[in-house]
Amino acid sequence: SETEVTREFHSRDYNILLLNDDDGNQHLMYIISVEKLLGIKICPICNNHAVFTKDPNNNSKRKMDTHIKECQQNNGQIKKYITLEKFPKPFVLHITSNKTYRYLLAHNRESKYKATQYYITFRFQTEIQKIRGYQYPILVPTAIASTIKAKNYIKTISFDKTQDNFVEKWLEQVFSEALQIRDDNKFADDVPQRFEVYVIGFDCLKSATTLIFKNIKSMKYEIIDRPELCQCQHGTR
Ligand SMILES: [Zn+2]
Ligand SMILES: [Zn+2]
Repeated sequence: SETEVTREFHSRDYNILLLNDDDGNQHLMYIISVEKLLGIKICPICNNHAVFTKDPNNNSKRKMDTHIKECQQNNGQIKKYITLEKFPKPFVLHITSNKTYRYLLAHNRESKYKATQYYITFRFQTEIQKIRGYQYPILVPTAIASTIKAKNYIKTISFDKTQDNFVEKWLEQVFSEALQIRDDNKFADDVPQRFEVYVIGFDCLKSATTLIFKNIKSMKYEIIDRPELCQCQHGTR
């Protein structure tokens, strides 16, 4: 499960913990003591600096006291010091983080750069069901549809619960449709590029990914970590 702690400091402080469970449900929990839950002590002046309370050498009180002294002098403002590098390097992420654009620019062909034009979308239809053995009703997929936008066609596929393992059948077809999309997005042969095909959740909750993973029973798939992709774009190869 993923956890996020949202901290609010307005007229009154309160803390909410947002939980996604393995059944695709989201739960909100009211947290009485964030410090106890996280095992940290947060500075009451800046509400920002934190130290671990479970410090094995028991230095947490000393560390916090030192910080509070400084913090009082700065009136709770956060002071940051920046050390500049001796030789400045250009900060041009749109070039350095994109090997295709970097290559085209270096070869004076940047006009050949193009946006990703072909992709796949998906949308789940779900139902909330009360299932024996579960404390809360859970989200169950009842149908799924995808649109494949290729160079020469736009095609829609859909699967529903009248078929066994329909999520898996859908996934299998998405992988095979993705081959065409990958080819359609290709640059000229000598241009380095990434070959992920974007499969974009349309009008979907964060929990849609759970619905896919939960319904994969086949041994054909292996889930690998792709931290560079953002949460609502699932890379397929
Ligand atoms: Zn502070
Ligand atoms: Zn996103």
